[in-house]
Amino acid sequence: MSKKLAINGGKQVFSESPVLPTWPPVCPNVAEAMKNIYLSGKWSFNGPTEQKFATDFAEFHDAEHGIVMSNGTVTLESALIALGIGPGDEVIVPALTWIATAMAVVYVGATPVFVDIEPDTWCLDPVKTAAAITPRTKAMIPVHIYGSMADLEKLLELADAHYLFVIEDCAHAHGGQWNGKGVGSIGTIGSFSFQQSKTLPSGEGGICLTNDSDLAEKLYQIKHIGYSNNTEQGKAADGPPEGLLCHNYRCTEFQAAVLAGGLEQLEGQTLTRDANADYLTGRLKSVPGVELQKKGRLATRQGYYCLGLNIDTSAMGDNITLDDFIQALAAEGVNCNRTYGPVYDHKLWNVPAEKFRRTDCSTADKICCDSAIVFSHIWLLAERPVVEKLAEAIEKVALNLGR
Ligand SMILES: *Cc1c(COP(=O)(O)O)cnc(C)c1O
Repeated sequence: MSKKLAINGGKQVFSESPVLPTWPPVCPNVAEAMKNIYLSGKWSFNGPTEQKFATDFAEFHDAEHGIVMSNGTVTLESALIALGIGPGDEVIVPALTWIATAMAVVYVGATPVFVDIEPDTWCLDPVKTAAAITPRTKAMIPVHIYGSMADLEKLLELADAHYLFVIEDCAHAHGGQWNGKGVGSIGTIGSFSFQQSKTLPSGEGGICLTNDSDLAEKLYQIKHIGYSNNTEQGKAADGPPEGLLCHNYRCTEFQAAVLAGGLEQLEGQTLTRDANADYLTGRLKSVPGVELQKKGRLATRQGYYCLGLNIDTSAMGDNITLDDFIQALAAEGVNCNRTYGPVYDHKLWNVPAEKFRRTDCSTADKICCDSAIVFSHIWLLAERPVVEKLAEAIEKVALNLGR
């Protein structure tokens, strides 16, 4: 079956723009809740909306405690502070992630150690992680990246053997489950972002989850300038323990109201994305040179931030590049992006070389350069006919680009 590609003057697969859901989503009842908060004058300082959301979000992910903060970078930083990590300590982070994962380590004065990813899931490679552990290693931050999950079983086994803390970076994984258990509740602390593009957005925001009540209290103090949980403003009975550096990383009631509305939709949206990703996996299985980012090995429900594809352009013909593929797909009416790329190559990563350590990350280097592309999660929220056409466009380009 040969079809003329749109880039060569053929008919576009999406001759009209695809109907995709708008993001961030608009929940009608949220506007009313925002207005009521505004009129109440109780805008911040651990208000009732925030407290309820923290409890509900934690419960939805099978965790005992939730501590809401102002974004998903300070949640990582606070997790590291709560675990006592600082100068002289090493923290293992995957080469492929948003820079915040590694920046948080730099913020507390510790050394991020970049470790390679698995070629299929794009998540932290447990074998290479084992090789990167030194006597200084205190923690690892596996990231459930784009649309897959880090191998928590293997990583936790490693962490146990070496007395390491595990901070799950769940900024891409809201609503996901590993072996039936909510993400963020499996490692020592889980960190989520609610930034506008994420799958539970409130403009800015973040949360830490943990099952450890001492850590929960510490996290609470860290984000709340030293106040203990359930203390009224101006009425602190005790201060934080000496040396625990606390911040103002609070969120507002407005963010909490947006999050509460979004949380009602999250389970349904997660199931829809997961089902559409499974459909695409089956549909594209036999297309040469096209492979979906592999699901987490024990993922029972995956939260997708993006749909990731590994494109082997050499299977499509000689001298075809990933940019050729991306351009041909764009001409069919489908936009996708390359990944963030390895953190140490990112334009915004300006950390001097002596402040981080880089192990062999050849898989991340190669995949980010040659094969990895990502599609926004809103494609996975679209109606099935749109998802079918997305598959059609990918298949058409893959089969005809080399002709
Ligand atoms: C978005 C993101 C963060 C940071 O979240 P912000 O709320 O933007 O600070 C951390 N880790 C990953 C993997 C992210 O994608």
